[in-house]
Amino acid sequence: MDLILFGPPGAGKGTQAKRLVDILQIPQISTGDMMRAERAAGSELGKQFDDYMSKGLLVPDSLVLELFRQRLAAEDAKNGAIFDGYPRTVAQAEALDGLLSEAGRQVDSVVSIEVQLDEMIERIIHRRSCQSCGQIFHLRYNPPPSQDRCECGGQLVQRKDDTEEVVRKRYDEYLEKTAPLLDFYQKAGVVKAVDGVGSLDEITERIRGVLG
Ligand SMILES: [Zn+2]
Repeated sequence: MDLILFGPPGAGKGTQAKRLVDILQIPQISTGDMMRAERAAGSELGKQFDDYMSKGLLVPDSLVLELFRQRLAAEDAKNGAIFDGYPRTVAQAEALDGLLSEAGRQVDSVVSIEVQLDEMIERIIHRRSCQSCGQIFHLRYNPPPSQDRCECGGQLVQRKDDTEEVVRKRYDEYLEKTAPLLDFYQKAGVVKAVDGVGSLDEITERIRGVLG
């Protein structure tokens, strides 16, 4: 099964992806990680990435696709993969379709984890983290022993980015970026919307449900 996950920042997409790796026994394929690995290994492809990245240029899609071609042929990815951070544009989605179809594969499912903006704001503006141990609390859903103190006695702080304004901006950017892709996959009939409000286990179960 070849799978793509979408979800606004803070909706738990990364966590769900990791769980699906275990459940489906397919790897998560991240372009960022793969590019770093190729560069570190000093491969031919890695050197080409270096050329672009050292000049601050975007790596062309054709090179990224070559990376996918190699990765998807690996033993652990023969039965499918979860794509992480790719595609970001409709052109990339079309190219990925082409690549998969060469191998007799296709994007089988696009899971869209949906969380409304007001819920996202509610989650994030009440988040507090401990300056000493790093533990994260939510003033309503996972309350600390007191408003400003952790169990360890450390001071609780609100991260600078955890404001309504920042959440709104990121959410809008996500919708803008994702809408054309969802449209593209909707036409292919593979989009499965999942309610992203609930516990991690509940959301995992919903995803399993829509994947069948
Ligand atoms: Zn603490």
